[in-house]
Amino acid sequence: MNGQIIFSDDEIFLKKLVNEDFLTSLISSDDKTLQSKFIERADDKRREFFSNRIYIRGLIEFSNYCKNDCFYCGIRKSSKIARYRLTKDEIMETCSEAYSAGIRTFVLQSGEDLFFSKEKIVDLVSSLKNEFPGSALTLSIGEKPKDEYKAYKIAGADRFLLRHETINKEHYEKLHPISMSFENRLRSLKDLKDLGFQVGSGFMVGSPWQTARNLAEDLRFLRLIQPHMVGIGPFIPQKLSPFKDFPPGSADLTVFLIALIRLLIPDALIPSTTALETMNRREEGIKAGANVIMINISPDKARGKYIIYDGKPRSVLSVSDELEKIDGKLAKAGFSMSLDIGDSPRVL
Ligand code: SAM
Repeated sequence: MNGQIIFSDDEIFLKKLVNEDFLTSLISSDDKTLQSKFIERADDKRREFFSNRIYIRGLIEFSNYCKNDCFYCGIRKSSKIARYRLTKDEIMETCSEAYSAGIRTFVLQSGEDLFFSKEKIVDLVSSLKNEFPGSALTLSIGEKPKDEYKAYKIAGADRFLLRHETINKEHYEKLHPISMSFENRLRSLKDLKDLGFQVGSGFMVGSPWQTARNLAEDLRFLRLIQPHMVGIGPFIPQKLSPFKDFPPGSADLTVFLIALIRLLIPDALIPSTTALETMNRREEGIKAGANVIMINISPDKARGKYIIYDGKPRSVLSVSDELEKIDGKLAKAGFSMSLDIGDSPRVL
């Protein structure tokens, strides 16, 4: 790689970009000049589709119970941590405060907590959709049978986040215990798409044993399935997890990959994730093509307990103060904070 690629027309460029060998060599390259060319191009692409708007989502981490034992995750079943669940009233109250502050997307995230049965989630979804008109509801609650996903969709859930984590089966099996199945993850993603959800997928950058080729495969997979949303963030070790001694993923590489994803799926909603923020790089993620920021609106009961990785930032600000702070920062960097519902352009 020598930084001399002449960017001609989009088609030739994309054709090159979807080539796995080309992607692998790009990802392995440490050529900052070349990387910044891609980042600039991704920035242009984001502006073409979304202007300078950055959408805000309110994230509620409503339970840290989990039936799974993913080796990388701090809230895995075997982790000896304090567990909590928010009640329906607590979730409604949290959303009410955020709704008054202008938030129009709620992201309900949890471990795979069987206490929250299909009926409980359906009740929660329909209550939230009734109570907060004009808002979008995103679920991030893991793998479920298709009939459950269908019930959530009928109840009014709009979007669903489920990272594929890695598209290489061998790699997937190194990150997860035998009780979890690569095929079931892919089946879940397909069901969600078939049911008409706006679907989000993604992966961690720098997870143990991940290679540049794995990442190239992940990008090609994303391009193939065209999710409406793509979330990636650096792997960050958590001290109670089996992967506690592995090094963290690279923030530089994460930023570069955000740019590549923007170029491969130009209309995607791409958050500059909390994991990137942990490394103080959220703004760079935005400049590289991300167009979504998730703010944590979980109430005190949850704060500090949803420790999927160490060093997770914890704001003490109220939702409106947090929004004011983000608005100021974004404006300074030439962006404009948007509290619109921010649906995927594909569903408009
Ligand atoms: N249970 C739901 C699921 O599996 O989709 C949602 C919660 S799960 C904790 C959300 C995401 O956190 C995972 O998809 C994973 O990529 C990310 N995550 C977990 N442990 C992490 C770590 N140590 N570093 C960075 N990201 C991590």
